[in-house]
Amino acid sequence: MSDIKTKSIDVATQEVLKKAQEENIQTTWDRLELQKPQCGFGQLGLCCTVCSMGPCRIDPFGEGAQSGVCGAGADTIAARNLARKIAVGASAHSDHGRDVAFALSLVSNIDNTSKHGHSHNYTILDEEKLKKLAQEFGIDINKSKEHVAGELAKKLLEEFGKQEGELKFCSRAPKKRQEIWKKLGITPRGIDREVVELLHTTTMGVDNDYKNIISTGMRCALSDGWGGSMIATDVQDIILGSPQPIRGKVNLGVLKENYVNIVVHGHEPVLSDMAVKAAKDPELLKLAKAKGAEGINLAGICCTANEVLMRHGIPVAGNFLQQELVIITGAVEVMMVDVQCIMPALHEVASCFHTKLITTSPKARFPGVTHIEFSHENAYEVTKDIIRTGIDNFSNRNKERVNIPKQEMDLVAGFTKESVFQILGGRYRATYKPLNEAIISGRLRGLAGVVGCNNPKQTHDYFHTTLVKELIKNDVLVLQTGCSAIACAKQGLLIPEAAKDYAGKGLQEICEAVGIPPVLHLGSCVDNSRILTAASHVIEEGGLGQDLSDIPAAGCALQSGCLRRQLLSGSIL
Ligand code: SF4
Repeated sequence: MSDIKTKSIDVATQEVLKKAQEENIQTTWDRLELQKPQCGFGQLGLCCTVCSMGPCRIDPFGEGAQSGVCGAGADTIAARNLARKIAVGASAHSDHGRDVAFALSLVSNIDNTSKHGHSHNYTILDEEKLKKLAQEFGIDINKSKEHVAGELAKKLLEEFGKQEGELKFCSRAPKKRQEIWKKLGITPRGIDREVVELLHTTTMGVDNDYKNIISTGMRCALSDGWGGSMIATDVQDIILGSPQPIRGKVNLGVLKENYVNIVVHGHEPVLSDMAVKAAKDPELLKLAKAKGAEGINLAGICCTANEVLMRHGIPVAGNFLQQELVIITGAVEVMMVDVQCIMPALHEVASCFHTKLITTSPKARFPGVTHIEFSHENAYEVTKDIIRTGIDNFSNRNKERVNIPKQEMDLVAGFTKESVFQILGGRYRATYKPLNEAIISGRLRGLAGVVGCNNPKQTHDYFHTTLVKELIKNDVLVLQTGCSAIACAKQGLLIPEAAKDYAGKGLQEICEAVGIPPVLHLGSCVDNSRILTAASHVIEEGGLGQDLSDIPAAGCALQSGCLRRQLLSGSIL
């Protein structure tokens, strides 16, 4: 157990890891041990596999090779490695945004894309946001909402293929910041273009100036933060509803012993939101009862969990490193996955239990795993089929092997740039003024965006919670997304009562006056864009300078591969 305590600070995680050890089930922590010692060149970014003359590596001690076969030195290789990670990360979040824009075109009644007008699954749930966004793009809003949705979807999809000019959402940043981007030549032009150009310039024998490589990387990161991710966030709010502060529960204890447990995992809420609907279907509830279950319990892992938490209060079973552990509880009938952060090892772990792992995206298939393809057009029927599979699987559960930890914690999620506005100023005078005044008067020392994932190289959840506790103790209001938010929620930092227990006096007073936690959950990874726009609103409100860099704000993406896109798109603050 002492060894397990170094792996995670979370008691529920420790408990299930102990079970995994006893039953000889391999987890990510075991696989990390088997990888040791990890390649030192790779860890320093000094290993290059860009062309087939390699792999090449640079001796960091200056004794061996100082350049690759092509002549690339340490600076070029390290910059290229980082840049290519940015390209991969930006492509993932932006492709998510593209899919959501296609879903918007489905509710349209005009013939803009091959998909228009084929949805009986999605509709416009936030018409005000649709209109605001349409106006931003210069679209006439005096037409039916379906028509406006179609025109908007077309404009948004054009942002991906644009070759010239600049991404529309760049105009949301303070003017001074936009000028800096222009001066540096890093204003993003088109989302896909920036990813392709970064991959091109970092291939063998193209850009060998590490400073220029990093600049190109920053332009690509901006195309995600102020492009693909921002599109994903805004359109999801339009078709799935804008979140409002909502109470929920988090940690493995949210699984229920006598229920059919269905776990959604991945990133794109167009699937998981439909699962929320399907899990309430009377036909399925009746079937679950007929099979001896008390009902259907839906829970989530990773960012798709954050999405259904903040819109529907669906419980979160855990963050990235808990995905295998959810299955090891022995209580999960189905884990349905879409894209991103899904460990290939899940198939192996699921095969040790009755759990059915089901892939749904044509972009993410696993050998030997059941694939039920999801599309925007068949969304509801597919999620119903998957849940039905889970219900049928309930009788295969081995009750002797079920071990659901008791730990679960309350949290409040669902803050947005709009709801923070309203909470601070009141519904009829939405404003960031009280926030700015608190910073000016010194009651609040600043804002921090703490985002990111977990990494078994560090103790699970430790760094996220330690950093956030230190920030709020020093009167810094913390904004969180993704698995980092889940880590802090499990430790009880995302409830209003946490202000009294953990926050400094100034932050405590503000939280108590408006009834918010000292740590605000702003959603999933793509919702880092909410942090960017909230910070821009702070500047617009006045009194704190003219640029994002003038406000006492910092961004931090701890521990994970997500760093490549989140830190860079956010750190332009
Ligand atoms: Fe080696 Fe250069 Fe090829 Fe990289 S690009 S693998 S350093 S030869």
